[in-house]
Amino acid sequence: MSGCEPGETVGAFLCQAGQVLRAASVEAPRLEARLLLAHALECRQEDLLRDPRAAVPAEPAERFRRLLAARARRVPMAHLTGEAGFWTLSLRCTPDTLIPRADTETLVEAALEAVPAPRRVLDLGTGTGAILLAVLSERPAAFGVGVDRSPGAAALARENAQRNGLADRVAVLAGDWAAALAGRFDLVLSNPPYIQTGAIKGLMPEVAAHEPALALDGGADGLDAYRALAAALPGLLAPGGRAVLELGQGQRAAVEELARSAGLVPLFCRPDLAGVPRALVLGAP
Ligand code: GLN
Repeated sequence: MSGCEPGETVGAFLCQAGQVLRAASVEAPRLEARLLLAHALECRQEDLLRDPRAAVPAEPAERFRRLLAARARRVPMAHLTGEAGFWTLSLRCTPDTLIPRADTETLVEAALEAVPAPRRVLDLGTGTGAILLAVLSERPAAFGVGVDRSPGAAALARENAQRNGLADRVAVLAGDWAAALAGRFDLVLSNPPYIQTGAIKGLMPEVAAHEPALALDGGADGLDAYRALAAALPGLLAPGGRAVLELGQGQRAAVEELARSAGLVPLFCRPDLAGVPRALVLGAP
């Protein structure tokens, strides 16, 4: 490759991979090249930089070429490494669920603020378990239930609870949201599917081609899941309970209206790091 040293060294691989990923329009090509090579060599990124002349043995080199080719096809990094960081947790990721987003940490902050001492916490559409597990990790007296329509997602959330030492305070059900539940909760969390059906194909290839439609598709106007949530929440919240919902860009007014029509009370909305209203907090009727 142009400008790269020849050979099977760490430096040469990183240089070539950076060019391949840049050509594939990957956003942070050099960083991602390091992540992939570190993954193939089962070492830390810092270890790579210590000796750029070190030879890469044949087996990890082959693994690295496969990973690089997949990433150039825009397979998400979290699917290639099999994990993603969220809050203070490390979560296993598979194509069964949405990959946890940094924006979604806004929901965790809003939830911790809205209900400082929850006992019973529910997460509707739990996916990897990210939001539920993050809240439980901060609230040792809380018990959590996660629900997901996808059995693969429910299994993954269970595995992530185990992986983060939270399994004894979490139950995960595969089912159609609230239909599977009895009882009331102090805190109900949800990052529901909220993308308009017609907008999905215009998202980044990592999302449009590799993340599950079940976790993204909010119907024609993107609000189907909020309609279902507005109908279910009054029966799920304990007196004084709070629901915290993730919003898509521009959805705040419409979701507040749906919530009010169901008797819920919009209390506050926390913006994400880009200033987008992201985590809507609702009070029980
Ligand atoms: N935030 C995700 C995205 O824009 C969508 C998540 C969702 O629908 N809940 O890719």
